Amino acid sequence: MSDWPWYVLIACYGACVGSFLNVVIYRLPEGKSIVTPPSACPHCGKTLRMWENIPVLAWFFLGGKCARCKTPISFQYPAIEFLTGALFLAVPIIYYHTDWVNTAWAYAGLAGSWPILVVHVMLIAALIAATMIDIRHYIIPLGIPYVIVLLALIVYPVATYLKPDFASVIPLTQSGGVTIALGGLVGLIVANVLLRLGILPYSFADEQEWLEQVQKEHPELFEQQKKSDHVLDENASGQAVQDGEKTKPASVASDDGHHHTPIDMYLLYPHTRREMGKEALFLLLPLLGMIGGFFLKSHWPEIAGMIWLRVLGTVILGYISGGAVIWLTRILGSIAFGKEAMGLGDVHLLAAIGAVLGPMEPIYVFFLAPFFGLLAALISFGVARIYKGQARVIPYGPYLAGATLVVMFARQFFNVLG
Ligand SMILES: [Zn+2]
Repeated sequence: MSDWPWYVLIACYGACVGSFLNVVIYRLPEGKSIVTPPSACPHCGKTLRMWENIPVLAWFFLGGKCARCKTPISFQYPAIEFLTGALFLAVPIIYYHTDWVNTAWAYAGLAGSWPILVVHVMLIAALIAATMIDIRHYIIPLGIPYVIVLLALIVYPVATYLKPDFASVIPLTQSGGVTIALGGLVGLIVANVLLRLGILPYSFADEQEWLEQVQKEHPELFEQQKKSDHVLDENASGQAVQDGEKTKPASVASDDGHHHTPIDMYLLYPHTRREMGKEALFLLLPLLGMIGGFFLKSHWPEIAGMIWLRVLGTVILGYISGGAVIWLTRILGSIAFGKEAMGLGDVHLLAAIGAVLGPMEPIYVFFLAPFFGLLAALISFGVARIYKGQARVIPYGPYLAGATLVVMFARQFFNVLG
């Protein structure tokens, strides 16, 4: 096949993206720039020479050690680079040479779908970064899903405006879906503006204050965390909570030497049910927008012929679908259990998955993810047995990522379901 040289290039590109992901995984949660300074040995500060940046291979040439001070370099670096390259390579092979996904991909071929393919592989890169950061820090930095949503919002409509044939691999919405999507988008923007203006209340705005109060009254609960107070400040400051960066209040038995935050303390926050009312109020606006959009559809019949606009509508509907599925679960779950269920980081991650893959896919992902949870629970239970340690709670982001890969690579199977 004449496209194979391109596939090799995509794999190499993936390995380079993986190299960048290593930087993202280490620096983003700490609030450091991911652009500067250039990569350096964390032990002796030696900056990497050009060839030492070659993905996967450089690590083996260096024997897994810093060239100057011989400090071992984590195997995670080449592993992430290899994984990213391998998954990037798997996408075109599976999309164009099997019937496991929408067969439109095989018909379109690389030449007829490459801009959409690029966004799909970047989604995979984002899932890898989100998974690694979520496992280590129990957060998903919102910048990761934001970049992917922005990419889909720009690349999909522009590509299909220039060449409508590219739309053959996008699950195009009907023209009625476009006005519903645009209405929902307007509602979402209005809700965010009202939030910034202080007209709509932030949820969990007083959680940090409450936490400090508890700390004053029951300092013994915080004894264990004293050593890592700076981590607490960075990861669990009131600002971060307000911006929705705290993904979930998982109970943490961290195995990497330090307790990040008294995250399990968040589970004791007494006003979770009340706060869900605020979030439901926020969501009312996009819902009203979508209802308004539904009644507008008959006033705009020419949409049917504007492929790029229907593509844009599809991206927005996918975004809303993904976000809504988890946010509604979060609200219902939190009301039912009185504890924060699911994090806003998960909401944004599945929203980004929907923006790239379409409105139905997040629903498949959502129902598939718990099986990964079960698998992880079994594994961690087994590991805990072996090491006689405490079973570790793994955050939800990795399950979503695993389920998304299955949906991307075996989409055809889900057509049986609907
Ligand atoms: Zn060194």
